Amino acid sequence: MRHVAQAAANGAGGSIDYRLARERTITAFLSGEATRSEVCDAQSELMRNARECGRVSDVPCPICRENNVVEVTYIFGPRLPAAGRCMVTDADYERIRRRTGDFTAYEVEVCPTCRWNHLLRTNPVV
Ligand SMILES: [Zn+2]
Repeated sequence: MRHVAQAAANGAGGSIDYRLARERTITAFLSGEATRSEVCDAQSELMRNARECGRVSDVPCPICRENNVVEVTYIFGPRLPAAGRCMVTDADYERIRRRTGDFTAYEVEVCPTCRWNHLLRTNPVV
């Protein structure tokens, strides 16, 4: 979640893609610059959300390659928990769209095996 916290501090806005930052993190791990425990640091809440409201992607985990990563979407905005709310269904999005205020979706990938996690992109909820 440290990536989400960083992105949240940058403020809401248009869509932002974090692919390059993700590639840099993977490269740092592969080159030995970053340790596995540094890049595989998903907190227990993120791991639980990955199990309960994540979508299994077709992307293999870049760190352990044992499983495909799971994508979890959090919504941040007014009157939502400070840690964001985990979205599961289209109805969840519909409820957010009907509210007033600016909401931003944060898509995070998590490996259920090694705890690798990284922010993929942020999108305004419109
Ligand atoms: Zn993994």
